[in-house]
Amino acid sequence: MKINEILIHHGDDMKEMAKRLLKYSKVEKEIGKDFHVGIKPNLVEAKPASTGATTHVELVETVVDFLKEIGIQKITIMEGSWVGDSTEDAFLVCGYKKLAQEKGVELIDLKTDSYETKKSHEGDLEVCKAPLKVDYLINMPVMKGHCQTGITCALKNMKGCIPDFEKRRYHQMGLHGPIAAVNTILKPDLILVDAMNGDLTYEGGGTPVPMDRIFLAKDPVLTDAWAAKTMGWSLDEIPYIRIAEKLGVGSSNIRDAVISEFGKATRKIDPTTLRGEAKDYGEFVDEGDACSACYATLLYALKRLDEEGKLVTIVENIKIGQGYKGLSFPGIGIGDCTSGCSKSLSGCPPEAGAILKFLKNEDPKAASEEE
Ligand code: SF4
Repeated sequence: MKINEILIHHGDDMKEMAKRLLKYSKVEKEIGKDFHVGIKPNLVEAKPASTGATTHVELVETVVDFLKEIGIQKITIMEGSWVGDSTEDAFLVCGYKKLAQEKGVELIDLKTDSYETKKSHEGDLEVCKAPLKVDYLINMPVMKGHCQTGITCALKNMKGCIPDFEKRRYHQMGLHGPIAAVNTILKPDLILVDAMNGDLTYEGGGTPVPMDRIFLAKDPVLTDAWAAKTMGWSLDEIPYIRIAEKLGVGSSNIRDAVISEFGKATRKIDPTTLRGEAKDYGEFVDEGDACSACYATLLYALKRLDEEGKLVTIVENIKIGQGYKGLSFPGIGIGDCTSGCSKSLSGCPPEAGAILKFLKNEDPKAASEEE
């Protein structure tokens, strides 16, 4: 797999999706049989993946099975939950204890790990030893909203690999600089992003949005640039991505990325399952058999519109979904299925940035030109 590639799989069978991407990527060629492989999920707190906070254990299980199939003997799943929460509880609640027992893999609570001092452009940073020692590190973040940094995905997931006192210090340091800097020290070899139902607004979950998608990539900067775009954010709004790029961690150039997409997220959304702000934004939508990916992307765009104080400009409900296919009617529609609307945005599904521009009566094409 090349450094500028992103493999995206849409769908609702995450195990099959992950299996297919791993097979397609041919990453087994870069993992020696005697390697010690580390897997770093996001278990920010003891909440199941259905809340949008944590990495689905099913995805990690698929990666473990893949590694075993290619002959890897030593596999360690490692994580340190956020300050104030117990990683051990998260391992239990999120199904990782059971997985480790069943598959015979090691679990390390990085809160209890020893650490060492590493130099960075932000000065000395303390980093846990376990992720530094492995021969191959697989970063498995959740693509989700974050209350301070806007989004969190690959780059920020490495913050789970530092001691708690250092996590507190990162906040005093303004978060963005040290998040970028720690990625010059901890360099994952592979990134598998869980974007099945990451939280719309908050890293701690509670507002999951069914996106039905996973990504496989190698460059954390490219991964996060893609995640930001998917969630309707521009790179200028997420400083740590640009800082990491300047530090040589990777490239945010999506235009030159080789993006391959597999599958289709055709599962129909059930709006009654939405919670919190996702449910509130759903009040602005008239959906008719909308695919989860399409609806989720619209929710991300509505959230951005809300943050800009422009939700009040939506004076009629937005139409979305396959139920509108072939029909002709007045109003605003999102996606190819609503091409019969008097005003419709094409795409299947359209991107969040394009939806945002469209809802603001700006040129949606400008969203991709801003990459
Ligand atoms: S445009 Fe229609 S088919 Fe395409 S993702 Fe949206 S709802 Fe699904």
